[in-house]
Amino acid sequence: MKTLYLPASDPNTCDAAAKILREGGLVAIPTETVYGLGANGLDPEAVAKIFVAKGRPNDNPLILHVADPIQMEDFAYDIPAAAYLLAEKFWPGPLTMILPAKPIVPKSTTGGLKTVGIRCPDNDTTREIIRLAGVPVAAPSANLSKKPSTVTAQHVLHDHDGKIDAVVDGGHCRVGVESTIVDLTERPPRLLRPGGITPEQIFEVLGELTVDKSVTQELDPDEIAKAPGMKYIHYTPQADVVIISGDREQAADYINHFFEPGDRVMCFEEELELYRNCAPLAYGREADPESLSAGLFDALRELDDPAIKRIFARCPEGGGIAYAVQNRLKKAAGFHIIRVGGAK
Ligand code: AMP
Ligand code: MG
Repeated sequence: MKTLYLPASDPNTCDAAAKILREGGLVAIPTETVYGLGANGLDPEAVAKIFVAKGRPNDNPLILHVADPIQMEDFAYDIPAAAYLLAEKFWPGPLTMILPAKPIVPKSTTGGLKTVGIRCPDNDTTREIIRLAGVPVAAPSANLSKKPSTVTAQHVLHDHDGKIDAVVDGGHCRVGVESTIVDLTERPPRLLRPGGITPEQIFEVLGELTVDKSVTQELDPDEIAKAPGMKYIHYTPQADVVIISGDREQAADYINHFFEPGDRVMCFEEELELYRNCAPLAYGREADPESLSAGLFDALRELDDPAIKRIFARCPEGGGIAYAVQNRLKKAAGFHIIRVGGAK
């Protein structure tokens, strides 16, 4: 199969992408979070192709993307007031809400659950494609299963060229990490995955929020995950990732001491000087956490190389978007964290 390359700037792109989706094909779409691998979310055969292309386990649910916030009513029922408040405040935007699924949503999209994740993405091209397609678009991140997410059309082609119908190139994703996921089927609502909308922002609107254990800790092997997707390995390059946390100078001493051929360092721009002999790759500025979220998956993908055996990674501290970066890096590292020195 030839994968069509459709630039967002081309006036025919939205019509062409919508037609492929209507006909049951796969189109990678740009969003403000990461690129998604999209199919008609109401067509089980189309959705099945996503799982095959990604090598994704069937019980890992997909997020249903809508063109307009009010369309959540087409695919969910028993929608609590909190969902309307969040939609009003954060949609279009990087927030996914888990709601009870209407029967129209196939089991293949929900991974067999009674709930569905719905999001209205903040990308004009993609919302226009969904509108023209006339169907909600089920789309997980467009990376191969277990691999770091795709934040450019080139990343998508690297993973799927010749295996999907088209990719729409909308440039580099602004946020760079996947959407925040909030489960609104329980009270208080539960944060299942941090992302571009921060827990602080949600708390400000709802006045309540709990954080699921899987956000901060590795689940025990026999523990039942709240969302099936959480039990799977995520974001992993081929090398072992080890987070070295703590004071800047002490971390640098540790890494420089243990650094061996085949190792790489993923650090903040402010620290490059400290790793002159350790092949450092900066993924953003520590003082600008949004640059870290935007650059995280570029760096993890660049370091996804069989010649690299181990990656020492520096991880930002604190809340806001840094919290989402911590979550992704900890998952990439399988929660392997070495704390050096005192707190900063
Ligand atoms: P991805 O877009 O690849 O990040 O995958 C979507 C993720 O959204 C899944 O792995 C789940 O963690 C989450 N998700 C989607 N639908 C649901 C749902 N109904 N309940 C809980 N989590 C969900
Ligand atoms: Mg994913």
